Amino acid sequence: MRERFFDEKDRNAIGNVKRFLEYENMIPGFLEEAAADPQAVIDKYGFPLTPEDVSFLPMDPARPRHLEARYPDSKGGIYAGFVNRKLEHVQMLVRECAPKEPRFARWREEQMGRCMLDLGPQYSSIIHVPVVFELAKGCSVGCEFCGLNAGPLRSLFRYTDENAMLWKDILQRLNDLIGPAAAEATLYFATEPLDNPDYELFMRDFRDILGNLPQITTAVSARNIERLRPLIKELNDDGRFIYRFSVLSEEMYHELCRAFTAEELALVELLPQYEQAPGNHFAVTGRCDDTKDEIPAGGTISCVTGFIINMCEKTVTLSTPTWADAAHSEGQIVYGKETFKDGADLQVRMERMISEKMKVYIEPDDILCTYPYLKYVKDEGSVRIESEHGTAFVLEVNDDVNIVEKVFELVSEGCYTRREIVTKIIKSSEYPAVQSQYLFYLINRFWSKGIFVEKGGLHGKEV
Ligand code: SF4
Repeated sequence: MRERFFDEKDRNAIGNVKRFLEYENMIPGFLEEAAADPQAVIDKYGFPLTPEDVSFLPMDPARPRHLEARYPDSKGGIYAGFVNRKLEHVQMLVRECAPKEPRFARWREEQMGRCMLDLGPQYSSIIHVPVVFELAKGCSVGCEFCGLNAGPLRSLFRYTDENAMLWKDILQRLNDLIGPAAAEATLYFATEPLDNPDYELFMRDFRDILGNLPQITTAVSARNIERLRPLIKELNDDGRFIYRFSVLSEEMYHELCRAFTAEELALVELLPQYEQAPGNHFAVTGRCDDTKDEIPAGGTISCVTGFIINMCEKTVTLSTPTWADAAHSEGQIVYGKETFKDGADLQVRMERMISEKMKVYIEPDDILCTYPYLKYVKDEGSVRIESEHGTAFVLEVNDDVNIVEKVFELVSEGCYTRREIVTKIIKSSEYPAVQSQYLFYLINRFWSKGIFVEKGGLHGKEV
């Protein structure tokens, strides 16, 4: 059962420390000013804080992310507790997003294994949500950094009687097919949720049928502040979810600060997405990738390992995140896209995609290969598969290092079936004691971790 992120008595402390740290990320020069004389800056901007409240220990990049206040009994200690609960929440979401349909669940696990090496350290922040919705075709915002390369806004899925009936029918069917994980869906993907004037009506049906307030990430928070107020109030009353606002300019940030108190935005992450912001961060993907011909692109902003349902076009797309490159400029692998007529038809198509597109085991006659971004490194008693994107998979194999190396070498040639690889090694006089079951185990293990892949499954990632 999801819990509230904080006790109401801590809202003031969390909101104000958060706002102080946002100033550092949003306002050029603030960080330097605060470092030189924190008390003077606190007085100048009127923060109800002390320098101790905003003093934190540096995070150790070699350890899982964890925030520690330099003075644990200060408001900084309360804020650090909140941030650490949010970090744990991401791991909880990864578990809660597991679909109940067994084949889908297993395929998602395999994609998660692949993403660990494919996406580098970014993999740990991706929740692999099994389904998301788009309530529009295209997006009105046209952000220069759009990681999904959304086209201009062309149409909206309005809350007519007919559409409302279809919507509720689909939510019910997803609840049956995917289970509680369907409640983790968002009502946007390559769209801006608040482009749809009926967003709130769809959101309420979603909450009534699936039980969660769907997460919002919006880039137009300042477009209609009065529309936002009830949404923020609902978020704060519930207390168990986080919203995100992309902040596109320093002026937009000031506008939000004037419209909402620090306490009101305690559950809203404000993401600095403009060039001058000291904390700005863009994934180099989609429109943000303007370096295609020079250096490899990278990263993804997709967190879907499953279905993207566009309600306007009535399409369903099966997708999973990947490192953005020339063949995957939007940071996703697309396994298929179909058009559906109604809720029943959508269910049939999703079930068929699950059984036909979600490969969960390798056949003896599958030709195996490996991804070009992976490298085999031999160690004493273990092997390491290193990704050029910054992560590695380590397998303890004791005396079998040479056998594993041979398997990797044969798979890297990209022309042998699983059966042929096992037969070649068994027949070789170099490894007299090796058992075929062990080789099958090794190959299956590497395949399920996204290290080996069947030929045809590289989706444009061939060298
Ligand atoms: S980042 Fe979001 S809001 Fe901006 S263009 Fe892309 S889909 Fe639209």
